[in-house]
Amino acid sequence: MNVESQEHKDLRAAVAALGQRHGRGYDREQLWAEAAKLGYLGVNLPEEYGGGGGGMAELSIVLEELGAAGCPLLMMVVSPAICGTVIARFGTEEQKRTWLPGLADGSLTMAFGITEPDAGSNSHRITTTAHRAEDGWSLTGRKVFISGVDIADATLIVGRTEDARTGSLKPCLFIVPRDADGFQRSQIDMELQAHEKQFELVLDDVTLPHDALVGEEDAGLLQLFAGLNPERIMTAAFAIGMGRYALATALAYAKDRQVWKAPIGAHQAIAHPLAASHIELELARLMMQKAAALYDAGDDAGAGEAANMAKYAAGEACVKAVDQSVHTLGGNGLTREYGLASLVTASRVARIAPVSREMILNYVSHQSLGLPKSY
Ligand SMILES: Cc1cc2nc3c(=O)[nH]c(=O)nc-3n(C[C@H](O)[C@H](O)[C@H](O)COP(=O)(O)OP(=O)(O)OC[C@H]3O[C@@H](n4cnc5c(N)ncnc54)[C@H](O)[C@@H]3O)c2cc1C
Repeated sequence: MNVESQEHKDLRAAVAALGQRHGRGYDREQLWAEAAKLGYLGVNLPEEYGGGGGGMAELSIVLEELGAAGCPLLMMVVSPAICGTVIARFGTEEQKRTWLPGLADGSLTMAFGITEPDAGSNSHRITTTAHRAEDGWSLTGRKVFISGVDIADATLIVGRTEDARTGSLKPCLFIVPRDADGFQRSQIDMELQAHEKQFELVLDDVTLPHDALVGEEDAGLLQLFAGLNPERIMTAAFAIGMGRYALATALAYAKDRQVWKAPIGAHQAIAHPLAASHIELELARLMMQKAAALYDAGDDAGAGEAANMAKYAAGEACVKAVDQSVHTLGGNGLTREYGLASLVTASRVARIAPVSREMILNYVSHQSLGLPKSY
């Protein structure tokens, strides 16, 4: 029996070859354009709008393999996966025609903003609010840590609107163009070495047309979750790719480096943790494949649990693989030449974003195990 179809294996091999051609010193724009041209960026988007007609199974293979070659495209987590999915599933016909072909062919990119300074992990507490204006909407609020806003044509902002009947606030998604009046961004000084930067955003009475609202005003939560499961699956792919890249670097080194009679990889203190990391990355991939299969089959509820578990497992496996890989290289683990030290910081992203390890443990405690909540 094959866990992965021949088609998926072929996709993996083709993307891996593309990744090898670009490698660690990759030019993000060039790789983005080439991956798009080959149909990889929009592989999950509907064919009628220029996509490949596949799903998260295929898109996660693309990101994992690019990461494993040392050239991950972080914006794949948000542009085709979250934004593309939400627009394809809930957008109006006009929104689909405006955005999907461009997201698929790489000529358009969309960022995604939910995190707020005073809400953090508690996204129920977000306060970015949309008021009805004469010709559409007026959006006001703040966001933080939003990736790639400078290179994205627009950002899909999670805000709230007031329910006309109850007065309570309900989540809604708005497409905010990069250069909209009142939409300001300032780059956050991160320790990360990555092409994609993080931004703090201020939305000061940003005027948006009616059709900036994605889909139905009353289906906000459903729409939001439709995007968050792909985000978790893709973060798992990102983490597994990075873990594999670090591990491959360490393995090559451990087979070659000799300071006693045999290469250092012969010492079990070096070999066993690397073997354990390989196992943990494989296990995380299995859960990612399960999450993608459930999501692609339309089982949003089942995919929710699996996507959380996959993101957790992949984040942990990635952090451990990178840590052990750096250690395997001894002093060289900290040189720029070998390029592993910067992954120590990068690997931690997978533990924190888009939902932290603790929030996933909370989710599993409450949703899967039925334990009571402390908060
Ligand atoms: C590189 C990077 C890129 C990002 N890109 C984006 C993006 O594109 N778009 C976007 O919207 N966001 C983005 N984020 C934000 C990210 O999703 C948040 O950082 C994350 O959700 C955690 O929120 P916080 O940083 O406010 O941490 P906090 O919520 O302040 O949490 C701090 C710590 O407290 C723990 N904690 C909080 N509540 C609980 C609890 N109830 N039980 C146990 N522990 C708890 C957390 O697990 C964490 O360890 C990005 C972050 C990073 C680092």
